Amino acid sequence: MVWYKKGLRFTCTGCGACCSKEPGYVWVSPAEIEQISAHLNISQEEFLKRYTRTVFGRVSLKERVNFDCVFLKENRCQIYPVRPRQCRTFPWWKDNLESPAAWKETAQRCEGIDHPDAPLISLETIQGELH
Ligand code: SF4
Ligand code: SF4
Repeated sequence: MVWYKKGLRFTCTGCGACCSKEPGYVWVSPAEIEQISAHLNISQEEFLKRYTRTVFGRVSLKERVNFDCVFLKENRCQIYPVRPRQCRTFPWWKDNLESPAAWKETAQRCEGIDHPDAPLISLETIQGELH
Protein backbone atom coordinates (compact mmCIF):
# COMPACT_ATOMS: atom_id res chain seq x y z
CA MET A 1 0.00 0.00 0.00
CA VAL A 2 1.22 3.51 -0.78
CA TRP A 3 2.29 5.88 2.01
CA TYR A 4 -0.52 8.38 1.22
CA LYS A 5 -3.42 5.94 1.61
CA LYS A 6 -5.27 8.41 3.87
CA GLY A 7 -5.12 11.05 1.15
CA LEU A 8 -3.19 14.32 0.88
CA ARG A 9 -4.11 17.96 1.36
CA PHE A 10 -3.91 20.16 -1.73
CA THR A 11 -5.60 23.11 -3.39
CA CYS A 12 -4.31 25.19 -6.27
CA THR A 13 -3.98 28.87 -5.28
CA GLY A 14 -3.09 29.82 -8.85
CA CYS A 15 0.23 31.27 -7.68
CA GLY A 16 1.94 30.26 -10.92
CA ALA A 17 5.09 28.94 -9.23
CA CYS A 18 4.92 25.57 -10.98
CA CYS A 19 4.91 27.37 -14.37
CA SER A 20 7.90 29.59 -13.74
CA LYS A 21 11.43 30.28 -12.62
CA GLU A 22 12.88 26.79 -12.96
CA PRO A 23 14.09 25.17 -16.18
CA GLY A 24 12.03 22.19 -17.26
CA TYR A 25 9.93 20.65 -19.97
CA VAL A 26 6.20 20.76 -20.54
CA TRP A 27 5.53 17.91 -22.97
CA VAL A 28 2.65 18.18 -25.41
CA SER A 29 1.08 15.23 -27.23
CA PRO A 30 -0.21 15.35 -30.83
CA ALA A 31 -3.80 15.59 -29.50
CA GLU A 32 -2.81 18.49 -27.22
CA ILE A 33 -1.04 20.26 -30.10
CA GLU A 34 -4.29 20.03 -32.05
CA GLN A 35 -6.40 21.28 -29.12
CA ILE A 36 -4.15 24.19 -28.18
CA SER A 37 -3.75 25.32 -31.81
CA ALA A 38 -7.53 25.28 -32.24
CA HIS A 39 -7.93 27.22 -28.97
CA LEU A 40 -5.45 29.84 -30.19
CA ASN A 41 -7.06 29.85 -33.62
CA ILE A 42 -3.76 29.24 -35.42
CA SER A 43 -2.47 26.35 -37.52
CA GLN A 44 -0.58 23.51 -35.85
CA GLU A 45 2.52 24.50 -37.87
CA GLU A 46 2.33 28.05 -36.54
CA PHE A 47 1.80 26.80 -32.98
CA LEU A 48 4.78 24.46 -33.19
CA LYS A 49 6.99 27.21 -34.60
CA ARG A 50 6.01 29.94 -32.15
CA TYR A 51 5.48 28.11 -28.90
CA THR A 52 7.37 24.81 -28.88
CA ARG A 53 10.81 23.23 -29.13
CA THR A 54 11.86 19.67 -29.81
CA VAL A 55 13.88 17.97 -27.08
CA PHE A 56 15.00 14.33 -27.18
CA GLY A 57 12.63 13.85 -30.12
CA ARG A 58 9.62 15.09 -28.12
CA VAL A 59 7.72 18.37 -28.28
CA SER A 60 7.87 20.68 -25.26
CA LEU A 61 6.48 24.19 -24.75
CA LYS A 62 9.11 26.90 -24.95
CA GLU A 63 10.18 28.84 -21.89
CA ARG A 64 11.30 32.45 -21.60
CA VAL A 65 14.84 33.47 -20.61
CA ASN A 66 13.75 33.59 -16.96
CA PHE A 67 12.42 30.00 -17.39
CA ASP A 68 8.76 31.07 -17.18
CA CYS A 69 6.51 29.03 -19.44
CA VAL A 70 5.80 30.81 -22.72
CA PHE A 71 2.08 30.80 -21.82
CA LEU A 72 2.43 32.33 -18.37
CA LYS A 73 1.31 35.97 -18.34
CA GLU A 74 0.88 37.96 -15.14
CA ASN A 75 1.01 34.69 -13.24
CA ARG A 76 -1.90 33.24 -15.21
CA CYS A 77 -1.93 30.47 -17.77
CA GLN A 78 -3.09 31.84 -21.12
CA ILE A 79 -4.27 28.43 -22.31
CA TYR A 80 -5.76 27.23 -19.02
CA PRO A 81 -8.85 25.41 -20.45
CA VAL A 82 -6.63 23.39 -22.80
CA ARG A 83 -3.41 23.20 -20.78
CA PRO A 84 -1.43 19.98 -21.28
CA ARG A 85 -2.10 16.91 -19.14
CA GLN A 86 1.28 17.37 -17.46
CA CYS A 87 0.05 20.72 -16.09
CA ARG A 88 -3.42 19.43 -15.21
CA THR A 89 -2.08 16.58 -13.13
CA PHE A 90 0.46 18.53 -11.04
CA PRO A 91 1.30 17.83 -8.21
CA TRP A 92 0.12 14.20 -8.71
CA TRP A 93 3.30 13.10 -10.48
CA LYS A 94 4.93 9.76 -9.64
CA ASP A 95 8.22 11.43 -8.67
CA ASN A 96 6.47 13.84 -6.27
CA LEU A 97 4.61 10.99 -4.58
CA GLU A 98 7.51 8.58 -4.38
CA SER A 99 8.03 9.17 -0.63
CA PRO A 100 6.99 11.57 2.14
CA ALA A 101 10.34 13.32 1.62
CA ALA A 102 9.66 13.81 -2.12
CA TRP A 103 6.21 15.21 -1.28
CA LYS A 104 7.72 17.59 1.28
CA GLU A 105 10.26 18.73 -1.29
CA THR A 106 7.43 19.38 -3.79
CA ALA A 107 5.63 21.39 -1.11
CA GLN A 108 8.60 23.77 -1.00
CA ARG A 109 7.74 24.74 -4.58
CA CYS A 110 3.94 24.54 -4.36
CA GLU A 111 2.13 26.57 -1.72
CA GLY A 112 -1.11 24.66 -2.36
CA ILE A 113 0.26 21.52 -0.69
CA ASP A 114 -0.90 21.47 2.95
CA HIS A 115 -2.32 24.97 2.45
CA PRO A 116 -4.68 25.99 5.32
CA ASP A 117 -7.61 25.99 2.82
CA ALA A 118 -6.63 22.70 1.20
CA PRO A 119 -9.19 19.89 1.28
CA LEU A 120 -8.15 16.31 1.79
CA ILE A 121 -7.82 14.65 -1.61
CA SER A 122 -8.65 10.96 -1.47
CA LEU A 123 -6.37 8.14 -2.52
CA GLU A 124 -8.84 7.21 -5.30
CA THR A 125 -8.76 10.74 -6.75
CA ILE A 126 -4.98 10.90 -6.54
CA GLN A 127 -4.60 7.56 -8.27
CA GLY A 128 -7.00 8.67 -11.00
CA GLU A 129 -4.84 11.72 -11.66
CA LEU A 130 -1.43 10.05 -11.33
CA HIS A 131 0.94 11.05 -14.14
S1 SF4 B 1 2.63 25.92 -7.50
FE1 SF4 B 1 0.89 24.74 -6.67
S2 SF4 B 1 -0.53 26.30 -5.90
FE2 SF4 B 1 0.89 27.35 -7.28
S3 SF4 B 1 -0.11 27.30 -9.31
FE3 SF4 B 1 1.19 25.48 -9.19
S4 SF4 B 1 -0.15 23.84 -8.43
FE4 SF4 B 1 -1.17 25.80 -8.00
S1 SF4 C 1 0.87 25.68 -20.11
FE1 SF4 C 1 -0.08 26.93 -18.55
S2 SF4 C 1 -0.26 25.59 -16.75
FE2 SF4 C 1 1.23 24.65 -18.14
S3 SF4 C 1 3.25 25.40 -17.48
FE3 SF4 C 1 2.51 26.78 -19.09
S4 SF4 C 1 1.50 28.46 -18.00
FE4 SF4 C 1 1.67 26.72 -16.58
